[in-house]
Amino acid sequence: MVLRIASTLFVVAVAAIALGHLWFHPDTLAGRRAIAAITRPLSPAYSTCGRCGRPWSVCEGHSTPYSEHFGCFPLCERCWRELSPQERLPYYEQLLRGWERWGAVEQWKKDAIRTAVLEGK
Ligand SMILES: [Zn+2]
Repeated sequence: MVLRIASTLFVVAVAAIALGHLWFHPDTLAGRRAIAAITRPLSPAYSTCGRCGRPWSVCEGHSTPYSEHFGCFPLCERCWRELSPQERLPYYEQLLRGWERWGAVEQWKKDAIRTAVLEGK
């Protein structure tokens, strides 16, 4: 019974993803958001792009190194490419606010991330 439900859900998900690709091309933000609406519930363990909402299970995050040992990726590669450094900043600030829910974020990290973003990393 569980297997039958799981396989049915899988078929529905695959069909929905296929339709999403037909109706909304992933090169457009609207298309990516449609794909996100379908794939996000199927990937609850994954973080998502702060702009289009697609989980990292279905797209690649753009990694922004902000120190020798640390990097962060609030945007997918496609969303990152579509935005200017200034337009990207709010998504990094959103990520920092998320981190702060788990504890204070050191000021050097905030400064280093802002610098890296504005340098186009
Ligand atoms: Zn994205």
